Amino acid sequence: MIKSYCTLICIALLPLFSIAQAPSNSYLIRAGKFYDAEKNVFIKNQEIWIEGNSIKAVGNKLTVPKGTTIIELPNATVAPGLIDAHTHLLMLQKVDDNIAIDVLMNSPEYRVLRAAGFARSYLESGFTTIRDLGNSGKYLDKEVAVAIRRGFVQGPRMLVSGPILSAMDGQFYQLPQKDQEAITKSEYRVISGVQDAIQAVKEHVNNMVDVIKIVAFGERMGLEMEEMKAIVQTAHQYGLKVTAHANSDNIIQQVLEAGVDGIEHAYYISDSSLARMARRGVYMVPTDPSIQAIIDTEEAQRKKEHDTTEIKKMLQPLTDRLTRARKMGVLIVAGSDAYFDTKSSRGNAAKQTLAAYWEEGMPVTDILQAATWNAALALGRKNELGVLRQGAKADIVVFNGDLEANFKKTLFDVRMVIKDGKIVHQP
Ligand SMILES: [Zn+2]
Repeated sequence: MIKSYCTLICIALLPLFSIAQAPSNSYLIRAGKFYDAEKNVFIKNQEIWIEGNSIKAVGNKLTVPKGTTIIELPNATVAPGLIDAHTHLLMLQKVDDNIAIDVLMNSPEYRVLRAAGFARSYLESGFTTIRDLGNSGKYLDKEVAVAIRRGFVQGPRMLVSGPILSAMDGQFYQLPQKDQEAITKSEYRVISGVQDAIQAVKEHVNNMVDVIKIVAFGERMGLEMEEMKAIVQTAHQYGLKVTAHANSDNIIQQVLEAGVDGIEHAYYISDSSLARMARRGVYMVPTDPSIQAIIDTEEAQRKKEHDTTEIKKMLQPLTDRLTRARKMGVLIVAGSDAYFDTKSSRGNAAKQTLAAYWEEGMPVTDILQAATWNAALALGRKNELGVLRQGAKADIVVFNGDLEANFKKTLFDVRMVIKDGKIVHQP
């Protein structure tokens, strides 16, 4: 009898005793330099207290429970885990091959396993969230996302689009027409009419995608305006955003007319379209290559001589449109669109886009904000992702050295990655 009372009392008192004791994954990070994504500034000597999977507090001289692990990082830069808002984990294209080769030559099982490897490399490069935008078979992106969430494989948290909604030709160009239709159907959700457009969004909702991606125009044909409007309206009804692959200004004008939430690439865009985007809060994902990314691609093509002046000249139109977009107040969201087979790891290839923004004249703070705070806004995860503040997810990347002073080198020198409050990478 006495024994059972004791058990009861002991269990009842247990929470009182544990108050003073930190849980096993309670960390206090002392950062020499800290990037505040919300205010878009670097701050010296900040403390970040993590408990469980979230941020408990950020500030100075924080009082933490006994047993909290202190991580001293006086010579490092601490930032929210990076977000890549435009990935293709299920796709790998050899630089000289047609984009359809990957689908034709490789089984879905192989592509899923390969994607798990890419996911791991993203995490090791400091990306703790990615948004995967199609070219992923029939919802293979979803399989990878779930496996990561359940801890079977390690990778960033994944938001996914499922198959891209497109017209009959998808994005498989230069294929014989007889093959094109069948291959497109294996990778895209081909839309035929307004009712079908509504049905396609509902299928995606039922498969629990996080975003709808459309290709407004392929090689030979595009979605009808009424189809796009139906897609946007239905997606919004179900609380999903719609993002559009659109490269040229006339297509951009059409997707803006249809009411999309974001535009991917936007390589050629007029000031009037930019003004419309800024006014309506439509974000832009400039998937720009850096000079090094171009050199990596050229090397994969066995080209040995690289003319950087020529590369810069080629990239100038992208720089011009990014500069105009920023001046006009368009929300810039970082996205790599990395899928080429080069010597770079997938995660580092994705980071070349951040290097590109730097080469295009963006301040380091703005680049980081595009890859954290702004990306979280585009993903509908404000205050939860892309920021280190009380209550946010404890997703953190630590760089060796001063990221602000020496951006392009430090960006590739990752010291530690924390996802969901757990140290997941520490080279
Ligand atoms: Zn893409």
